Amino acid sequence: MTQAFGFQFDNSYARELSDCCVPWQPAVVPTPSLLFFNDTLADELGLDVAALQTAQGAALWAGNLLPAGAQPVAQAYAGHQFGRLSPRLGDGRALLLGEVVDRHGVRRDIAFKGSGATPFSRGGDGKAAVGPMLREVLIGEAMHALGIPTTRALAVAGTGEQVYRERAMPGAVLTRVAASHLRVGTMEYFAVRREYDHLRKVADYAIARHDPDLVGEPTRYLDLLQRVARRQAVLISQWMNVGFIHGVMNTDNMTLSGETIDYGPCAFMEAYNPQTVFSSIDQGGRYAYGNQPAIAQWNLARLAEALLPVMAEDLTEPSINRAIEQVTAVIEAFPEWYEAAQVRGLQAKLGLSSLGPEQDAADAELADAWLDLLRQQEADFTLAWRRLADAAEGQAQPLRALGREPEAWDAWLTRWQARLALESTDDMARVARAGQMRQRNPYVIPRNHHVEDALAAATNDGNLAPFERLLAALRTPYLETPELAPYGEPAPAAVTACYQTFCGT
Ligand code: AMP
Ligand code: MG
Repeated sequence: MTQAFGFQFDNSYARELSDCCVPWQPAVVPTPSLLFFNDTLADELGLDVAALQTAQGAALWAGNLLPAGAQPVAQAYAGHQFGRLSPRLGDGRALLLGEVVDRHGVRRDIAFKGSGATPFSRGGDGKAAVGPMLREVLIGEAMHALGIPTTRALAVAGTGEQVYRERAMPGAVLTRVAASHLRVGTMEYFAVRREYDHLRKVADYAIARHDPDLVGEPTRYLDLLQRVARRQAVLISQWMNVGFIHGVMNTDNMTLSGETIDYGPCAFMEAYNPQTVFSSIDQGGRYAYGNQPAIAQWNLARLAEALLPVMAEDLTEPSINRAIEQVTAVIEAFPEWYEAAQVRGLQAKLGLSSLGPEQDAADAELADAWLDLLRQQEADFTLAWRRLADAAEGQAQPLRALGREPEAWDAWLTRWQARLALESTDDMARVARAGQMRQRNPYVIPRNHHVEDALAAATNDGNLAPFERLLAALRTPYLETPELAPYGEPAPAAVTACYQTFCGT
């Protein structure tokens, strides 16, 4: 049985790329219940917000009832996982239902995660647990509120069945909205199989969807690589500037759209240290905070390799060599694009405007010195930035109280004040600057201990209240009120020292 619920599906992926996915149905589950519903996002998508919160709605979000017009498919993709190629991953526990064009005219994927085994499951159960799916909600909504491109959770439904991980846990299905689910690994899948016609079709589809101005251009595959690289440069710099650690930056978890995807073992850094790793599966620290820009570049090199066969006019050596030269130039330019985005981000966080290339270079050094100081002082990354806004108004004491030695900040603060003086130092300007800094330096981030507490209450006691309170706080990250204080404070150092995240698969 199908019902409308306001979904106006178009299924361009299933229609145009039928060779690149497998039609498949979600599993039927015993007792659907709605755990989370994103009404503002549903409204943005033109959906029937009331109908989707009924018992029928819960059945839909659990996968028991398909909305009219959905044409579910499992998408094929490959991926380099921790540096090693897995030629066949694909949607092992996900299904793309189709696309909906939102109120702004943007085409967005609607997909299930945890909706049962597919031909890509490789022995996995295809299921998901409540905790990790609510985690996607929390981190995704936090990223969205921080202005960072991200896939978003539309709904989470409990299934009423147990899934077996380290122990039995309540099962859930997440519905995810994405600009698309095209990944670096999507291109790799067809490249390693040497299915170049399919590769070309997927690449042209990606271009039509994300870079429509490139459609039909002779250099479009190289241009696509460059666009993806530029989007990723901006995205990673945004991650770095809020202390976000993705945790599993495999090429199958890197989108072509430039949205953050797959909130598995991710976490936010507390005390600043570039070597921070939380993921239990990242033994070598490959995906440590400070490695993320270099890993992004490495992943883009894999995308470049995948695109070579369709870039070259023919598969002769001279033609391939020419293509290699062209993609190499893009990959080598990535650090520059990243640095440029990063400096702009840091300047805004420091309350500075760009005064031209020479001063930008000096500002980058000033920012480096600040980060060194945070590291020496083992200061909380988020709060240190936030307290710098107070210092912009002449209140340096809260900042000086954050680290190990109050006087250690003073020399840097003097240097920073001198830099601010190149712009403006009157009282009005100081207040305005502090206000702007508070719009760039969040107070509330999803602190790991709060996330864990919220997920434990939901998983163990079916108590969603802590999850809902945390979610509400994360939706106003730049607000600082006494009520929000518990969410703004770091975890006790002993908690953070032992903190580990798990993939939750
Ligand atoms: P992830 O680490 O979540 O990005 O997933 C990597 C790959 O493993 C993807 O191909 C997933 O579809 C697959 N996968 C993860 N969990 C499961 C599961 N429980 N059952 C089947 N496949 C899974
Ligand atoms: Mg993934």
